Amino acid sequence: MPLNSTALVLFSGGQDSTACLAWALARYPRVETVGFDYGQRHRIELDCRAVVRRELAAAYPHWAAKLGDDHLLDLRLLGQISDTALTDARAIALQANGLPNTFVPGRNLLFLGFAAALAYRRGASVLVGGMCETDYSGYPDCRDNTIKAMQLALSLGLDGPMTIETPLMWLDKAQTWALTEALGGTALNALIVEHTHTCYLGERGQRHDWGHGCGHCPACQLRAAGHAAWRSGQALPLPPGAAR
Ligand code: ZN
Repeated sequence: MPLNSTALVLFSGGQDSTACLAWALARYPRVETVGFDYGQRHRIELDCRAVVRRELAAAYPHWAAKLGDDHLLDLRLLGQISDTALTDARAIALQANGLPNTFVPGRNLLFLGFAAALAYRRGASVLVGGMCETDYSGYPDCRDNTIKAMQLALSLGLDGPMTIETPLMWLDKAQTWALTEALGGTALNALIVEHTHTCYLGERGQRHDWGHGCGHCPACQLRAAGHAAWRSGQALPLPPGAAR
């Protein structure tokens, strides 16, 4: 892996991408972040991005020295090709094909393509994303084989190596909490609880021990269950090297 490279983290302001950002800051000499505005029904997650970056920099000065520019790309054109609970007023539900209707077809491939073009311009050759196959939510563009194929396509299309790192690929949600604890101690998990956003419904008001959210949507339930398993010591051990 080109550890002397600049890494560009796909950073939404949620728990998973914050874990990816911490992982990258612990690993690479310079780290930039990119977010995508695709007309999310709730902008809370995007609003959390700057807060999380600021809090990370304040709590971890050695990471602050590595944390470079933030980029926000306007991808609202995705609204023209999606019909989902994230971008209109429909309720979240499972469709007949088993995929949640929050699914934007191939969304992660589009994100990775735009991120790679930005990385090329910024002199970065590593992308870091929170795609995860373990807590598979029905998104085929999060699968490891999909990401590996995209890495090959990007490296060929850019005529230079473009590595896609997915530190959460084989972790479950309890292990994600364990990973961030290993990277930044209990203070990092406290920061994630307080400042990241995951709730599909965009609710911030209610504060649970796992963070803010409605507590009922699939994203809140997954986050709460993972946090409970981690807190009770039931998280599986991290794979060797996961936090390095
Ligand atoms: Zn929720």
